[in-house]
Amino acid sequence: MPPPTKRKFVGLPHPHKPPRNEFLGSLRQGLVDKTFARAFANDPSMCHNGGMSLPIRNLPLVQNWDCHGCGDCCRELEVIVSTEEKHAIEELGLTGDPELPAGPWFKRKGWWSRRWALRHRPGGGCVFLTVQGRCRLHERFGPQAKPFPCRLFPFVLVYVGNHWRAGLRFLCPSVVENRGRPANEHQGDLPSLSLHLEKMAGSSVDSLPPPPLGAGQQIPWRDLIRVVEALVRIVEDRSDRLERRLRKGLALGRLCQEARFDNISGGRLVEFLNVVSGALEDEVPRRPEDVPRPGWIGRLLFRTLLGVYARKDRGLNKGPATRNWLTRVWAGWRFVRGRGRIPKVNKYLANITFKEGESHNGLPADVDEILERYYLVKLNSLQFCGPPNFDLPFWRGLEALALTLPMILWLTRALAPMPPQEAVKKAISLVDDHFGGNPILGMRHFRYFQRTLGRRGEVDKLIAWYSR
Ligand code: SF4
Repeated sequence: MPPPTKRKFVGLPHPHKPPRNEFLGSLRQGLVDKTFARAFANDPSMCHNGGMSLPIRNLPLVQNWDCHGCGDCCRELEVIVSTEEKHAIEELGLTGDPELPAGPWFKRKGWWSRRWALRHRPGGGCVFLTVQGRCRLHERFGPQAKPFPCRLFPFVLVYVGNHWRAGLRFLCPSVVENRGRPANEHQGDLPSLSLHLEKMAGSSVDSLPPPPLGAGQQIPWRDLIRVVEALVRIVEDRSDRLERRLRKGLALGRLCQEARFDNISGGRLVEFLNVVSGALEDEVPRRPEDVPRPGWIGRLLFRTLLGVYARKDRGLNKGPATRNWLTRVWAGWRFVRGRGRIPKVNKYLANITFKEGESHNGLPADVDEILERYYLVKLNSLQFCGPPNFDLPFWRGLEALALTLPMILWLTRALAPMPPQEAVKKAISLVDDHFGGNPILGMRHFRYFQRTLGRRGEVDKLIAWYSR
């Protein structure tokens, strides 16, 4: 069983003095694009945009959001701040504020680190979260006083060729519920944040390499975006249930990996993708019942990963089985075995056995709308591969993303008696809390588990199995 989860908000170093290792080391969770940072740390001469921010494009049209002040992010995430941000907060003169506990408010992230984590109160929640559930920094000094990761959440900025794309984290209940203004109406708020990222690295950028498609397969950004668009078209096609659309996406990936892309580019690549996408209609089994059931290795690795994805280690929704490292180890082992009662790794899980959790009762078609929104946001923003997802190559990242569907479907059953719509939303929130952000999933053996599931075609089988 791996060590306890430490999800992090990412802190940023001083704009004019990026400590290189700290800078790169802090770029986790997709809040900041690591490729972007690495290129600048290595070669600041790449900057030739004259200090202008790159545009932010493709804000999710299907997605709404506004902060409704629930405070979940303040309770469930660890916010990492730079030394400069720490000093700026300390200089605000908050000592003695009746709403705040006595210091220290920060803890160092390691002996020599220049990064600090905001402390949490004994009952959970950021040290600056008041009993009324408001951020004291925001309340007294406005949003600019907050650490950068708090200002950016729940957006994720991903560097894509000559622009940024905005993804979203479904840990935020307003994102899952699709509450608020259309996400593209936040277009005006994001450039200052992306400019902050660009300044932090020294200047702006207009060309960095895309993540590889697979081992030894590299195509330019423009072609990579064409592949993303083909996947998005498949996921948008409502003539199929969402599960088959994802199986089609995986099949497209397999066919593309067999093809050589070296001589196919631009319009020819679009033609190729159209032909292959059309062929998927016959290639991919129509009903989940027509797909073979997952093998024992698929089920074993799936449950091992599920033991991580189902967990809540921080905040008010922790389960008793994540109380300390020993209970976490024990709970992980029980997931691997898959027998007996499901350990309460989050407070929502029903008191049922693994066998009951495996029972087959298909979900109503209306949950597809929520799932479709989730996968479209992740695909469009490229939040599933490269720096936002542990530097996974494109196709490996797609498999990791598709693997979240059986996780969500399994959790939806295990959250009964919640109504299916509610259970799916909760399951998405639980899973997305880990996807691309939980360092455990970036560990070598967990990456190997995911890769094995993808290579053996077990991801398709798991999707179909939990969709029956
Ligand atoms: S979780 Fe979302 S809605 Fe709740 S306080 Fe954070 S940003 Fe606002």
